Amino acid sequence: MKLLMHTCCAPCSVYCIDSLRNEGIEPTVYWYNPNIHPYMEYKARRDCLKEYTKSINVEAIFEEDYGLDEFCKNVVCDLQNRCQNYCYRVRLEQTAKYAKEHGFDTISTTLLVSPYQKHDILKMQGEEIANKYGLDFLYRDFRVGFREGQSKARELGLYMQKYCGCIFSEEMSSLARQKKEKEIIDRANRDTERRIRLSECIPSLDFRQLKRENKEEIDFIYNIKKEDYNKYVEENKTEMNEEIQTKLFERYIKGNAKNIKIITVKGEKIGFFDGKILEDNTFRIDNIFIIKEYQNKGIDEAISRELLFENEI
Ligand code: SF4
Repeated sequence: MKLLMHTCCAPCSVYCIDSLRNEGIEPTVYWYNPNIHPYMEYKARRDCLKEYTKSINVEAIFEEDYGLDEFCKNVVCDLQNRCQNYCYRVRLEQTAKYAKEHGFDTISTTLLVSPYQKHDILKMQGEEIANKYGLDFLYRDFRVGFREGQSKARELGLYMQKYCGCIFSEEMSSLARQKKEKEIIDRANRDTERRIRLSECIPSLDFRQLKRENKEEIDFIYNIKKEDYNKYVEENKTEMNEEIQTKLFERYIKGNAKNIKIITVKGEKIGFFDGKILEDNTFRIDNIFIIKEYQNKGIDEAISRELLFENEI
């Protein structure tokens, strides 16, 4: 098999080349990406691929075509479907054309490694275009190695792009990043407000997630829960030995650990509460337990005022 592999960038090529070589297939890398803009980005990705292919001794052909105007003219009328209507096709078609003219019998593309691309459409178009030129299309679901390839690329210090390629994907990616940053800031602000409201009850009152592996925290909760078990025995006129209590407690921690928050005052543990995460990602408090010295100080009410809060505390 003489394989010409369309290659979008160095990081995506890592797993594709490694896994093909493991199969005993030696690809020739083919750079043709008029969809990458602006020029500095195009150059950064191209130069990185040049260096990488050289370093691993793989043959590489670089077809220069920056083509911002041509690309925009061809996608602007239907931006929604730009990937499948133009971007995949133009690159696969040129790869097939070059392969045919230069004695290759098979083509493929590193785009098959990305979970962000329309994989089935790529496979379909690859087969259709290869067929048109009397070539084979080598299909592999390289997506299984996407994370592995990306982390190896990072270790190697390859240039890692932040968006797919065209200016439209750059806009989408920037907007998504801005949205995420805003969410983080909003959450931090809400958290600060919550802490201020709690501190109005007792200064430095706070709560945090139980660490299940922290024996000291588990023992602290067990000692408080013991009182709860004893109250149950008294109210129900029943018996419950230490062994049963331990078993009940283990079951309680197993089922609730993720939803137990330790209450602290100036960093000292003074109690805990448990609850449930609801479908809308809010938290509903079920029980609050506070050690004797801190009971009747309004702590329960202060925390209950925060009855529904975001899960990420
Ligand atoms: S998002 Fe990526 S695949 Fe789609 S048109 Fe832009 S560069 Fe091409």
